[in-house]
Amino acid sequence: MASDVRGRLAIQPGDHVKLSDLPADATPGFDGKKSQAVREVADMGRELAGLQERLYAAASEGDRRRVVVVLQGMDTAGKGGTVKHVISHLNPAGCRIRAFKAPSEEEKRQHFLWRIDNGLPQAGEIGIFDRSHYEDVLVVRVHDLVPESVWSRRYKQINHWERMLADDGVTWIKVFLHISRGEQRKRLLRRLDRPDKHWKFSANDVRERALWPDYRTAYTTVLERCSTEAAPWYVVPADHKWYRNWAVSHLLLEHLRDLDPRYPPGTFDPKQARAALLRT
Ligand code: AMP
Ligand code: MG
Repeated sequence: MASDVRGRLAIQPGDHVKLSDLPADATPGFDGKKSQAVREVADMGRELAGLQERLYAAASEGDRRRVVVVLQGMDTAGKGGTVKHVISHLNPAGCRIRAFKAPSEEEKRQHFLWRIDNGLPQAGEIGIFDRSHYEDVLVVRVHDLVPESVWSRRYKQINHWERMLADDGVTWIKVFLHISRGEQRKRLLRRLDRPDKHWKFSANDVRERALWPDYRTAYTTVLERCSTEAAPWYVVPADHKWYRNWAVSHLLLEHLRDLDPRYPPGTFDPKQARAALLRT
């Protein structure tokens, strides 16, 4: 199994990003067959579940560490699919999955980070964000939902906020699911072909798709300005769903292995506890 997928997918601070030069059907770090990738995802899932349990257990002894996986990408890029195929290996009791839609009236009256802050996982948990605060410099920028003078200051605010949380024990895994425009068309057409997928389709998807170049620009700025040492971005080529699942599993695994959470030692003597139990 490859060992440093993280290093291959990370955007380094200061990198110049050209998404059109990054093939969306590439499989960095993996050169086997699809069936092997699927097997490895299942194997990684078992190891992930074990590490998650230790992270959760460690929190009971005051370990503040927690993980946030941010999933961003165009419609059909596979944000939901990643939750279904990768996150499903984890124990839902230790997961906090949040999907961020257009903000409510109440949310709009607050700073844009307010609702995100409210959705953060607690110590020991793994949070998964299906969309995130980055929408506030993506859809908001593309549709001029606030003046440029407002959104243009958000990159720094985001970096600052993410840094503060990293210092408090948050491990950020920010994943851009990179699909090609052609693959998106195929996926949208497939949704139209299948009545059981119609609920996923909205006329808005077609309008958003027409704005592809604007989103490209907005994503490029995000990757260039918000990939920091405290919270790097990973670009995951996502035209192949099996590679996407493999790569995100790998990213999670590498980070959790590094965190190396430990079961807290018991605060009792098992011998005495057993003897006491047997007397009852
Ligand atoms: P979906 O992920 O397909 O359920 O769609 C959610 C929609 O909410 C997308 O069209 C997002 O662009 C939109 N959305 C998420 N966050 C924001 C935000 N901060 N401002 C405006 N729209 C948003
Ligand atoms: Mg959608």
